[in-house]
Amino acid sequence: MKTLAILDPTLATSLTDFLKSQQIPFSTQPETDAETGLESINISVVDELYDRACDATEKWDQSMHSQPKPRCPHCGSSNLEYQELAPGESVTQISGLYHCTDCARPFPAQR
Ligand SMILES: [Zn+2]
Repeated sequence: MKTLAILDPTLATSLTDFLKSQQIPFSTQPETDAETGLESINISVVDELYDRACDATEKWDQSMHSQPKPRCPHCGSSNLEYQELAPGESVTQISGLYHCTDCARPFPAQR
C-alpha cells in the first residue's frame, strides 16, 4: 500500500467519494496528530493503482478549486448575494435568487 493523501475528515470523504466514482479501491486509516490532537484520514491504495489514484486525486483537486462562479447576466458582476427560496416558493429549475450588489437586479439561480 502507498499513502495517497492525508486529509481532514471532510476533504477525505470528498476524495474517497471521487475515488469510488473512478472505481479505484482504497483504504482509510484515521490518524491523530500527536501535537495538535486533530484527526485526519490517511487514504492509501495498492501500489499497482497508485499512479491512477494520483491522476484521479489531481482531477479531484482541480474540481475542488474550479467551482464556477456565477455572474450577473445584466452587468457581468460577480458581486452577488444569494437568497434561497423557501420550499413552498421553489420552482422546478430554480433553487434561489441572486441579487447583484452592483446593478441591484435579481436573477434566478439554476439548479
Ligand atoms: Zn448586475
